[in-house]
Amino acid sequence: MKGLRRFLDNLSIRSKLILIITVISLIVLMGLFGVFVMTQRSLLREALLQEVQVLTQDLSRNCSAALIFDDRLAADDILDNLKSKSQVVSGAIVTADGQLFASYRQQVVAELPHAVLPSSSREAAASFFGSYLEVSQPISFNEEQIGTLHIRASLEKIHQVLLRYVLFGLVGLAGAGLLAWLLAWRMQRLISGPIESLAQTMLTVSSEQDYSRRVVMERSDELGTLVENFNEMLNQIQVRDADLQEKQQRLNYLAYHDALTGLANRLLFDDRLQHALENARRLGNRVALFFIDLDRFKNINDSLGHKTGDMVLKEVSARLSAVIRAGDTLARLGGDEFVIICEQATDRQGIAILATKVQRVLNQPLQCGHQDLFVSGSIGVSVFPDDGECVESLMQCADVAMYQAKELGRNNYQFFTPGMTELAQEALLMESKLRKALENGELLLHYQPQVDMSSGCIIGMEALLRWQHPVMGLVSPAKFIPLAEETGLIISIGKWVLQQACRQAMLWQQAGYPAWTMAVNISPKQFWQTDLIDAVEKALEETGLDPTLLELEITESAIMQDADKAIDTMHRVRERGIKLAIDDFGTGYSSLSCLRRFPLSKLKIDQSFTRDILIEEDGGAIAEGIMALARTLKLDVIAEGVEEAGQVEFLLAKGCTEGQGYHLGRPMPAEGLVDYYLHKVAGKAEVPADSYSVLIGSGG
Ligand code: C2E
Ligand code: MG
Ligand code: MG
Repeated sequence: MKGLRRFLDNLSIRSKLILIITVISLIVLMGLFGVFVMTQRSLLREALLQEVQVLTQDLSRNCSAALIFDDRLAADDILDNLKSKSQVVSGAIVTADGQLFASYRQQVVAELPHAVLPSSSREAAASFFGSYLEVSQPISFNEEQIGTLHIRASLEKIHQVLLRYVLFGLVGLAGAGLLAWLLAWRMQRLISGPIESLAQTMLTVSSEQDYSRRVVMERSDELGTLVENFNEMLNQIQVRDADLQEKQQRLNYLAYHDALTGLANRLLFDDRLQHALENARRLGNRVALFFIDLDRFKNINDSLGHKTGDMVLKEVSARLSAVIRAGDTLARLGGDEFVIICEQATDRQGIAILATKVQRVLNQPLQCGHQDLFVSGSIGVSVFPDDGECVESLMQCADVAMYQAKELGRNNYQFFTPGMTELAQEALLMESKLRKALENGELLLHYQPQVDMSSGCIIGMEALLRWQHPVMGLVSPAKFIPLAEETGLIISIGKWVLQQACRQAMLWQQAGYPAWTMAVNISPKQFWQTDLIDAVEKALEETGLDPTLLELEITESAIMQDADKAIDTMHRVRERGIKLAIDDFGTGYSSLSCLRRFPLSKLKIDQSFTRDILIEEDGGAIAEGIMALARTLKLDVIAEGVEEAGQVEFLLAKGCTEGQGYHLGRPMPAEGLVDYYLHKVAGKAEVPADSYSVLIGSGG
């Protein structure tokens, strides 16, 4: 049974359908045929029974005379009539007392019919047994039974007829079976056809992953519904697949591109450069690598916000993309660093032309709201195979060359030269030297006077840091302050400067000099330290300096990083009576609306604007604008970098009385300061303790 079940399970639907239809047809036909044969059988038997009964009745009537007269010959004659009836195989007349009176038998039949009826029964009787029919008929005379006529008929003929039916029937069944099979074979296609096409489509869909395929079938039965549902399922898979593919593509794109600018990212850049180098190696070409770092981008980001920063980066990307050729690669490595792989580099001249172009497009003013931004970049160039053979070394060389471009005042390009590596190593060395500078007491402060130009009186001093290195000599703060910022050393250095400046101010006071304001520069990193106020208070406490004599100089970009938080810190500074000045005012991007909210005391006009006063025709305009702004905001204003008498005249004429610069006094060590003034102002060698007012202005 299990074997049959497995066999059926393994059959295709088509074969199953054919088998089912054929078997059912055959069973139905066989049933019908059986009914037909059985009906025929009973009809034939009925007909035989009737015939034999009529015959028996007829003969029995004739037999009474023969019995009464005991005429056996006559009885034999009567029975001889049975010869004409081929199905009658024997007959017998039996007397009432059970004696056989006469008999007839066909040659083939040996036996006489046995009595189905007792001789005394007055009723006729008939019975089928085996392959015979036995009929018994009482023979009567004057209502008295005098004997019985028994006739036996053979059913063989009926059996032969039935056998013929069966034979014909079987042949007919075989034909019908064949026909049923043929019809089933054709009809099963109505069901198996759609299923097969469905299965075929499924196979194609899964093997080719082509979800755009559909099963085309117009029918409204269950298969139609199945096909409809299947197509609908494909629809959904197709939509989901498209969605997935899109997401996959997006992911791939994001993996290899910079989200902000859409340029290649570091991963793709590495791959492209690798590829470019392989090609160049094979073809004997050169490849130029440009490393571009935007100058002071952090300032833009900090003072104008990240949105503007992003806008600048996008614009720079667009401009650089327009400059490079089709086969070149432009990538953003993060922050404000861009790289260009130029595969068609021929010679240095060609590379230099491209570098100049890059520089030029960067320098074009960038419209940001109502103001123009001026962006520039420092570009380092390395060339394959001259400077390096692999991605890493070329990158390193371009990076070093870029730093050299920064060192040389930014907004320029530099080809890598082997000497630059030494410079880069020097920078590293410089860092470790700076770390030791504070411990070794190599740092010192110089002081530059801030002067009331109308009277010539000193009103304050700005503390300016110096590094006296035993080998390098006096190192400019412009050189080491950025390094200190980068490395975080500025925090401890800044604290030292505060202490030192406050102490010096107290020393001057104790020596009898006027109470000059002490201006101390605070770097951005220092400004954002949570312990800035603590450090300032500590310096004031330890030295005993009056807080109103301390002025902190901060830059615009430092406070614009987070204006709200900056305002909070500034208020805490001002609450203690300490003054706040904005250094290099005009070079940052602080918004005027913010400026109103800052609790400031002073604006310091940047040196560049002071310098412009005498150079350009309308050069004093910016300085004048800052003065007007300071007036509006009720702030003090001081001009930095006053180098000439003409500048003093202009500034005084425009109402700016405070100045600082080489013309008024250079930065100098504390000890030398008073001597210097004696010498310069009065030509005297000494300062008597009570005559300082004569020498450097009584207003002090
Ligand atoms: P700054 O605060 O704007 O200081 C003024 C700079 O201009 C000083 O340069 C000063 O020597 C220079 N200077 C003064 N008068 C003139 C002039 O008439 N002409 C010219 N060309 N220059 C003049 P210095 O001392 O080299 O300092 C440069 C910068 O380093 C300072 O600019 C300040 O930002 C920073 N710095 C100096 N000392 C410190 C410090 O203790 N802490 C921090 N955080 N920064 C400092
Ligand atoms: Mg300053
Ligand atoms: Mg300045």
